[in-house]
Amino acid sequence: MVRDGLSGKEVEVFAKAVVNATGPLADRVRRLLDPELPPLLTPSSGVHLVLDYPLKAGLLVPKTRDGRVLFLLPYRGMALLGTTDLPAEPASCPLPREEEVAYLLEEIRPYLGDVSGRVRAVWSGLRPLVGKGETKLLVRDHYIEERQGLYTLVGGKWTTFRLMALDLVERLAKDLGLALPPSKSHATPLLGAGPRPELPLPEETARRLWETYGTLAPEVLALGDRPLLPGLPYLEGEVVYAVRRELARKPLDVLARRMGLAFLDQRKAREALPKVVELMGGLLGWDERERALRLAEAEDGLPGLC
Ligand SMILES: Cc1cc2nc3c(=O)[nH]c(=O)nc-3n(C[C@H](O)[C@H](O)[C@H](O)COP(=O)(O)OP(=O)(O)OC[C@H]3O[C@@H](n4cnc5c(N)ncnc54)[C@H](O)[C@@H]3O)c2cc1C
Repeated sequence: MVRDGLSGKEVEVFAKAVVNATGPLADRVRRLLDPELPPLLTPSSGVHLVLDYPLKAGLLVPKTRDGRVLFLLPYRGMALLGTTDLPAEPASCPLPREEEVAYLLEEIRPYLGDVSGRVRAVWSGLRPLVGKGETKLLVRDHYIEERQGLYTLVGGKWTTFRLMALDLVERLAKDLGLALPPSKSHATPLLGAGPRPELPLPEETARRLWETYGTLAPEVLALGDRPLLPGLPYLEGEVVYAVRRELARKPLDVLARRMGLAFLDQRKAREALPKVVELMGGLLGWDERERALRLAEAEDGLPGLC
């Protein structure tokens, strides 16, 4: 039985195999088979702070006082400060813990001084690390488990997603006796890969559009060239593109996971929310009640970005 989390509708689905690629929540899905199954994962929490601190170069602290890695990188005109590897419980919307934020600010103090007033965004995520034990020592390769037709794919990295998908598809083809043509992934460029297009926009907006959408930037621009908020290098066309071409259904899908503004500046993302709801409402046929609901839901979700 599959339930659509947005509409609540349930549909019965028959399949020879089911793939469980739900990242840090994979054990929850496995336990639908058997609640007693021992976990495959030890989720590890990583917190990132975005600082209004223009950097020219990155900084890596390979070993903090408690033996973790700390990095500070130039990130879209700001600085991204982060670490990872605190053991955590699986959660669909992990919130950054206050002590983790304080830890990062304290560890960076010898290099930047007190930057607590420069924090523009804080976010937390869970890495789906395979195995048990100290999170910083766990294997980061991916792993496939088969159990009663449920194929669970865990571990891996963003940077290895094609290899993860390839290994899984090849495993399914083998187990189900399907003939597959050789994979073309290694020779297929990522969507939007190619030379930077000319865009009739101020440089900051043009560069941002290019960095976000690559060669698809002109297509996004054609959907609306008005700034989402005065003075911000984000366009109304991006909302339209996110809804029509990228299946965004909630305001934070757009502001966080498509445009990235909420990952960069949570106050500005909050300011842009009413406009995003207005545009999405028009595109998706939301009535006043639904608009108010989506706005309130996004305002509540902003601290965890979900
Ligand atoms: C803070 C942080 C920084 C990281 N930095 C890097 C990095 O710099 N480079 C790198 O390579 N990797 C990085 N990673 C690791 C990378 O994010 C993960 O390894 C990768 O996302 C795992 O991919 P996945 O597809 O297995 O899981 P995910 O990307 O987590 O995808 C799982 C999906 O399943 C969905 N889902 C969950 N439950 C259900 C359900 N019941 N029904 C339907 N859908 C469901 C979720 O919404 C999600 O979209 C980082 C991770 C964190 C937390």
